[in-house]
Amino acid sequence: MVVMKFGGTSVADQAAIERLMAIVARQRERDVAAGDAAPGPVVVVSALSGVTDRLLAVAAEAGAGHGDKALQTLRELRARHMTVADVITDDALRAAARADIDREFDELERIVGALGVLREVSPRWLDTIAATGEVVSSRIVAAALATRGLHGAWVDARDVVVTDGEHQAAAPQFPETTAALEAAVRPLLAAGAVPVLGGFVGATAAGVTTTLGRGGSDFSGAIVGSCLRAAEIQIWTDVDGMLTADPRVVASPRVVPHLSFGEASELAYFGAKVLHPATIQPAVALDIPVRILNSKRAEAPGTLITSERPPSDLALTALASKKHVTVVNITSTRMLMAHGFLRRLFEAFERHKTAVDVVTTSEVSVSVTVDDRRRLPAIVETLSEFAEVELEQDMAIVCAVGEGLHEEPRLVARVFDAVGDVPVKLLSQAASRRNITFVIRETDVPLVLGRLHDAFFATATTGGRA
Ligand code: ADP
Ligand code: ASP
Ligand code: MG
Repeated sequence: MVVMKFGGTSVADQAAIERLMAIVARQRERDVAAGDAAPGPVVVVSALSGVTDRLLAVAAEAGAGHGDKALQTLRELRARHMTVADVITDDALRAAARADIDREFDELERIVGALGVLREVSPRWLDTIAATGEVVSSRIVAAALATRGLHGAWVDARDVVVTDGEHQAAAPQFPETTAALEAAVRPLLAAGAVPVLGGFVGATAAGVTTTLGRGGSDFSGAIVGSCLRAAEIQIWTDVDGMLTADPRVVASPRVVPHLSFGEASELAYFGAKVLHPATIQPAVALDIPVRILNSKRAEAPGTLITSERPPSDLALTALASKKHVTVVNITSTRMLMAHGFLRRLFEAFERHKTAVDVVTTSEVSVSVTVDDRRRLPAIVETLSEFAEVELEQDMAIVCAVGEGLHEEPRLVARVFDAVGDVPVKLLSQAASRRNITFVIRETDVPLVLGRLHDAFFATATTGGRA
């Protein structure tokens, strides 16, 4: 049995859901032919494209006291889902799905109406509002699959993905999630059904709705896949796989046919949006292959991600970049490497729950990058107790990834040769030596990625959006 996760554009409208059904049917036929008695697959879906953004806008509008505007947006969203539900051809199933959609939106209107009066949206309500996108999209897809003889069976993600209570960034609790999935999903598979659940969404053990963070449906796919010990986790999206660079930045990136888990996690962590950074983790633990595939070009081979990959004739595997990064330069007011300085420094970030990405040290200072700016003022205040702090905004991290980096020492020189005259702020190469990571001004990203791509991947074309 495989787990198939479909992103927002892969469930955007009726045509997309038709394609999804054909893809699911083909996978099922293949697994039935191979003798799998419980072929599934398990389907995990995102909200229809753009819906999460709009739901978060609804929450913001309510919080600002613009209840009427928020309710107007909700009416438009309800209407869009009703139209998409036309993909359910069976009259009774369509009527039932529409009643479900109505119930979800009625409830949401009540909540948003009340929040509009209170003018305050707590993280908990924010998650309840955002989660509705996946709840309704998964209901539509389940009913559509049931109509086509594909035995779609809706599973409420809030019953099976058990998380901690960190709203907007909830962490799954694997033993509890495994138990819940075994209880709710395994029997459906055994009965020949195709279980369908929303990604991105979970709930605490006490039943409070949570979300896994933006882009989190990939993570849901991996969580479900690892807890149910799937043979493969498939991420269906709108590009042909992991590309050698972000197609929105570089003109003609090529598809990377095969990645190691290590390479994929570095690329995802440093900005390759096609994969949520936490996705690979659960797959690594059980050595489950992950495949990235294009739902508009289902026949394309995609990208396969496994623990190891065959050697490639390319020196680098791919590039990634992450914008909106802040560099924090910290200079000790006493001697830099004085006992306890680094401990205090990192404790400041730890205390304010902010992750640092790149770290470099010089004789007089330590520089780190953060991309979550929310708690920076508090961090600066804490650091200022024992150091001088300077911030540089609008910076970007560029990351060149390739298993070849530890074998070929001259590659680093080639990378910086390509970067040329662009000022590089911070530079780090991790112990894994699978990547070179450096920080530049955000405005230099297109130039630098273009130069690197020309130098390392020039001859190829293809890839990109379908
Ligand atoms: P989904 O809705 O299917 O989860 P996302 O929008 O989250 O899709 O991710 C797919 C997008 O990721 C692509 O359309 C592309 O613009 C972007 N992207 C950024 N970097 C890469 C990369 N290296 N390879 C492929 N896609 C990338
Ligand atoms: N719908 C969620 C988001 O837009 C999760 C996802 O699509 O992966 O962030
Ligand atoms: Mg995504």
